Amino acid sequence: MTKPYADREVWFLTGSQTLYGEETLRQVAEQSQQVARALDESPDVPVRIVWKPVLKDPEAIRRAMIDASSDDRVLGVITWMHTFSPSKMWIAGLNQLRKPLLHLHTQANIALPWDTIDFDFMNLNQAAHGDREHGYIQSRMGIARTTVVGHVSNPAVTSRVGTWVRGAAGWAATHELRLVRFGDNMRYVAVTEGDKTEAEIRFGVSVNTWGVNELAEAVDSAQGPQVDALVAEYEDLYDVVPELRRGGERHESLRYVAQQEIALEGFLTDRGATAFTTTFEDLGALRQLPGLAVQRLMAKGYGFGPEGDWKTAVLVRAAKVMGQGLPGGASIMEDYTYDMTPGQELVLGAHMLEVCPSLTTSRPSVEIHPLGIGGKEDPVRMVFSTDPGPGVVVALSDMRDRFRLTANVVDVVPPAAELPHLPVARAVWKPRPDFATSAESWLTAGAAHHTVLTTQVGVAAFEIFSEIARTELLVIDESTTRSSFRDQVRWNNTYYRMAQGL
Ligand code: MN
Repeated sequence: MTKPYADREVWFLTGSQTLYGEETLRQVAEQSQQVARALDESPDVPVRIVWKPVLKDPEAIRRAMIDASSDDRVLGVITWMHTFSPSKMWIAGLNQLRKPLLHLHTQANIALPWDTIDFDFMNLNQAAHGDREHGYIQSRMGIARTTVVGHVSNPAVTSRVGTWVRGAAGWAATHELRLVRFGDNMRYVAVTEGDKTEAEIRFGVSVNTWGVNELAEAVDSAQGPQVDALVAEYEDLYDVVPELRRGGERHESLRYVAQQEIALEGFLTDRGATAFTTTFEDLGALRQLPGLAVQRLMAKGYGFGPEGDWKTAVLVRAAKVMGQGLPGGASIMEDYTYDMTPGQELVLGAHMLEVCPSLTTSRPSVEIHPLGIGGKEDPVRMVFSTDPGPGVVVALSDMRDRFRLTANVVDVVPPAAELPHLPVARAVWKPRPDFATSAESWLTAGAAHHTVLTTQVGVAAFEIFSEIARTELLVIDESTTRSSFRDQVRWNNTYYRMAQGL
């Protein structure tokens, strides 16, 4: 089976020391290989787990951490102290580690052999205190890590390791992310602004701006058979309305969308970019606001934010990478309007045009309608409803002294009716724990109106990501109460200021 992160690796590092003698160390090597293999073979773990020779001295540990840190294929390292590995041996290595760390607290055996247990067994199987020594040095050094406890045959353990791998993949994705902004921020909007330099320091993302007319020129020069082929693909994949089909009176608008898609993708590819933003107030010579083209690129894995919202574009890209290979999808989303019927409150999420079709398994329609703002030609867009099921919406706010992630666990539900007059793709959801607590908490957090909605990974992957990135994450879920949330916001304000120092 091919793993979702087929070109990546996670290294499995086992700690020990030389004093146990050859026979015990041979068993340590053998059993740690079995543990690594069990993780590698688990369908829950989306990456290859690579066992490395047992680490017995400070120099070997330091070398392993430097090698892991310098290898672009490595998403992170897993450490396990099968025996006792004195932790001062780990200081130099942990100081060199620049990749996410998972501390796996496990054992080779499940049950104790009560009838036969002797001191040789005790000598070999002492992770119970070996890992405590390891936990101490990580805490003492302030190492960000995820700790997972249990036997690798337990699905709860492999599932959590898998979630950590996805969080680490998200972290790698933001560090590899070059983001192209076409134009700047929507005029006067606050929450879509932010400190791009701090974002590069914190998340590794490089955010830069290009004039939109560079794109408009590329759109105009995209001509010929590739446009014909893409138009044919649209007609094949979607229910394209007759006026846009070949022979239809507005077919030219669909051809222009194909030109937009070709030009956009080429522009991003040429710059090694995996996310982008547009802004309807600055379309230059573009004839229509990119709708369908943006939806198609998101479906191909690109991050996207409208109105210059680069922070949400980063989240969309990270969510797409974290969800790789899983059912469902991820998209820019905006809380648009509510059904406030008491006891049955719902959020209708949508955007002007740009919702990613990875959120549906249905066949979208492709339609053309006027757009009240922007002063350009009518834009073409895909229209569909998001599949029902569990999801999470996540926003990224710049709180001046730090970034804040806010996540709300939601249940996507079918729309209450057909919505025949709503000309955009949408999602309808019930927020947890309930509408009022969710919205009140969201507003208390100062979380944005733009989010990523993902139906591929849960909030746990974002928790891992935020731990790795040492970034605040406020979670609104079934356990949230108004008072606990408000207190958490206050305490976090103090904690994060202190944790960051001066
Ligand atoms: Mn918007």
